[in-house]
Amino acid sequence: MSATRRIALILTTVFLIPALFFSVYEISSLTKDEKMIEGIYQKQLEAILFSVNQTSDAAVNSWMAKTETGKNQFAANELIPPPIKNLLSLNSSVQAVFLVDTLTEQANLTVYSLDSALTDQLRPLIETSLRKSNAQIAQLIKYRNSGFQKIESIQEKQNTNNFHHLIFIAEGNATPWQVVGFTIDSELFVEDVVAPLLQRISKEQFVLTVFDKERKSRVYSTESTDTTSLSSASLTKDLWAFPNYTLGIRTKEASLQQLVRNRTTNNLYLLIGLDVVLIVALVLAFRSVKKEVQLAQNKSDFVANVSHEIRTPLALISMFAETLEMGRVKSEEKKQEYYSIINKETHRLTGIVNKILNFSQTEAGKKKLHPQSINLYHEIKDVLKTYDFHLKSKGFEYQLTDSEELNVKADKEAMTEIIINLIDNAVKYSSDKKRIEITLGKENGYGWLRVKDEGVGISKSDQKHIFDKFYRVSTGDLAKSRGTGLGLSLVKQLVEQQKGKIAVNSELGKGSVFTVYLPLS
Ligand code: ADP
Repeated sequence: MSATRRIALILTTVFLIPALFFSVYEISSLTKDEKMIEGIYQKQLEAILFSVNQTSDAAVNSWMAKTETGKNQFAANELIPPPIKNLLSLNSSVQAVFLVDTLTEQANLTVYSLDSALTDQLRPLIETSLRKSNAQIAQLIKYRNSGFQKIESIQEKQNTNNFHHLIFIAEGNATPWQVVGFTIDSELFVEDVVAPLLQRISKEQFVLTVFDKERKSRVYSTESTDTTSLSSASLTKDLWAFPNYTLGIRTKEASLQQLVRNRTTNNLYLLIGLDVVLIVALVLAFRSVKKEVQLAQNKSDFVANVSHEIRTPLALISMFAETLEMGRVKSEEKKQEYYSIINKETHRLTGIVNKILNFSQTEAGKKKLHPQSINLYHEIKDVLKTYDFHLKSKGFEYQLTDSEELNVKADKEAMTEIIINLIDNAVKYSSDKKRIEITLGKENGYGWLRVKDEGVGISKSDQKHIFDKFYRVSTGDLAKSRGTGLGLSLVKQLVEQQKGKIAVNSELGKGSVFTVYLPLS
């Protein structure tokens, strides 16, 4: 397995897979969480409504206790026993207190109220309600016999006013049990007893509402501008004291479901965001590691290549020099041939060493360039003049399109280096079709020079790397294309130092075109 693959595998197994697993697990559990949180919220709201009910019930229970003990405490000159009078005057929602002996039925109905007109108005209403509640009264007596005092509404379904009658069983005077009741103005009850409680609970978070189920209307809401209808309240529970009233509660800004959903959506986005960041980070890490690995690989290839490059001419030089030294070569012609080989190989060695030195100097930024206005055409022509013999002897045909006027801002020496490298490559990487075409032109403030060959070409994937230092295309006949992998990297560095750019266009098997752009002078 290659080093980069191994790194990719490690990154994937150590970071990506666990993170993705975690995300998938989290996303799948989000809906579960949503349900759970909704359940918890619901329970909390229920608890709030429960406490409202309990508190209002406590108020009614205290009235009940006061009435039971106070109903027989008459005072001189008073029609109403003082404790009951006290109760009536302190609690505006209690409109009347009434008593009736259970065995004698309605015959002895007593109604206490602070307003005698109201007493007369209420009496028949109470009588009718009581008459219809015989079964309920019997049940309440049964409870009371077993020690449980309960208070219940004897409200008629079709109620046209706000008067509600609540009855309970108390100990009687003439009879063992007496039915005692309150006539309560339910709207006042909500206002006096329930509303302060709702206000205290609601604070900034909740809207609490009391609905009249029968009339389908809102009796009270903690939010004066509230438009909630019964069905849209998050949660409703009947008011124990008045079963036709319902308490509703919902969260202020958004509905409960919405709150939970918002939270879920936020979590989802957060998770996806984190995953994206992680993936991007991993890709970047992988890329930089891959680059380093590639560079290390290229470097080691470079050492092998250079050793090979140096060893061949050295072997030739040493072999021919030795032969000459031993005086074994007799003919002058042969001697000349050997000298020329030694000379040629020495040049080659010098070339390689120079290239490496040049590269290291340029890379270290030690090489100072002196850009000046130079004529690109003449520059190339000069290089070709010295290369003419070399090219022709290798069987190359070349062509330079005339363009006298093209002046660019560049360093003379660097320019020569660039041209030599490009032509050198065109020669090295051509096989049968030995044609090199050099064209010049202008474009967008740049002067360009193009070196085209009909050689082996470069694949798209290799094109991305050929300008990297030490990079060599690994496939192909190495003997035919010896090199160091430094040429194009050097060219690129020089071009960029002169504020220019370089581009390649190539197709495998068809040839390559290298274009160098330099700023016009
Ligand atoms: P070198 O030629 O010493 O290997 P370079 O940096 O000059 O190094 O080139 C890098 C690689 O780019 C070469 O190994 C070669 O495969 C490819 N290359 C460069 N020029 C050409 C060309 N004109 N045609 C085909 N391949 C080329």
